[in-house]
Amino acid sequence: MSDTPKRTIHESSDPMTKTREARMGDVDSRFNSRLREAFGSSPFILTKFDQFMNWARGSSMFMLQFGIACCSLEMMHTYAVKHDLDRFGSGVPRASPRQADTIIIPGTIVSKFAPRMKRVYDQMAEPKFVVNMGSCAISGGPFQEGYNVVKGAEEVIPVDINVPGCPPRPEALLYGVVKLQERISQGESAPVTVKPYELEQFGDLEQDELTEKLADQIDTDDLIMRYNWADSP
Ligand code: SF4
Repeated sequence: MSDTPKRTIHESSDPMTKTREARMGDVDSRFNSRLREAFGSSPFILTKFDQFMNWARGSSMFMLQFGIACCSLEMMHTYAVKHDLDRFGSGVPRASPRQADTIIIPGTIVSKFAPRMKRVYDQMAEPKFVVNMGSCAISGGPFQEGYNVVKGAEEVIPVDINVPGCPPRPEALLYGVVKLQERISQGESAPVTVKPYELEQFGDLEQDELTEKLADQIDTDDLIMRYNWADSP
């Protein structure tokens, strides 16, 4: 093969001008958006500073890279291609707590680990937010009776959102994070638990027999599921 570029490409400026003209037309409208059209020619938006800051915080969250146990796998899945948490402006996990303002607690916390987790939390940038992912992080989960298991992250650090499940599906975590963003944007700070009926709209799987059986045992007030491992099928 020859190294000489084809004459049609080398000597012609067609592709460049054609692309440019197609893109720009008579008026360069590349930067137009529906929002820009809605505001017309005025380049100003008037708002309250607090509201603007809350909106900015909620729209640009920096997650800490933090995995503890099996829930972490679901968390990684939430970051990955299918669910792509970054679509909502909260995707790329940060390797240092100093660059992060949100921590997801995805797993069982044991008493030896709890002080380390607290230290990591303390090093995060203010204002910071905590997402409790899964039964273990909420209450100790299936290991609740363990002598060394902390009965929920709430005992160590303040929690903003609880996402129940063992493990919660990626859709559930996604929903929890979006809910947190919504709350941050609105300046709300009281902790909440994402309810199962809210999660239902994100589930694309049929409930299996075991889940249906256990559904009666869910205490809707504290959302802690008592699971009897000895009698389980
Ligand atoms: S809640 Fe379930 S899946 Fe998540 S860390 Fe605990 S045991 Fe593992």
